[in-house]
Amino acid sequence: MSETSRPLLVGSEEPASPYPIKMKGEVVRGFGRGSKDLGIPTANLSEAAVEALCKDTNTGIYFGWAQVSGDQVVYPMVMSLGWNPYYKNEKKSAEVHIIHTFPEDFYGAELRVIVLGYIRPELDYTSLGKFRTPSFFSKD
Ligand code: ADP
Ligand code: MG
Repeated sequence: MSETSRPLLVGSEEPASPYPIKMKGEVVRGFGRGSKDLGIPTANLSEAAVEALCKDTNTGIYFGWAQVSGDQVVYPMVMSLGWNPYYKNEKKSAEVHIIHTFPEDFYGAELRVIVLGYIRPELDYTSLGKFRTPSFFSKD
């Protein structure tokens, strides 16, 4: 492998159809179910932003880039597209975890997202412990 070639892990040189998928919308309040406690805050996109997605976009975890309005920088992000319990699981919700430490919350801001690929389907965690970092990564 030459030094300039990309490892397979990062995907193809160019995003394959249907990517890139562009989304934009207001950051709204979610259930505040403690994603900050878990260390993974997720900026919830407005219903309108999710509805603009193709109806058969699969639920699961995606990756790409995100930008908060007023911020010059574009950061890497992971996004969970899931069924929204608030709407009896009949509508989808999109939650974006931006890989950056922000000095403060940005509810109400416009979030722009470019989705570049799919990582995995939704998983049901049987306990909080299972969700947290696997024990071989932690000290206890
Ligand atoms: P909610 O249930 O209201 O979405 P969260 O605990 O998921 O609450 O926190 C999400 C909020 O945290 C976002 O709306 C945003 O204002 C803020 N936030 C701070 N840092 C980040 C980050 N790195 N990625 C996403 N949101 C962040
Ligand atoms: Mg959230």
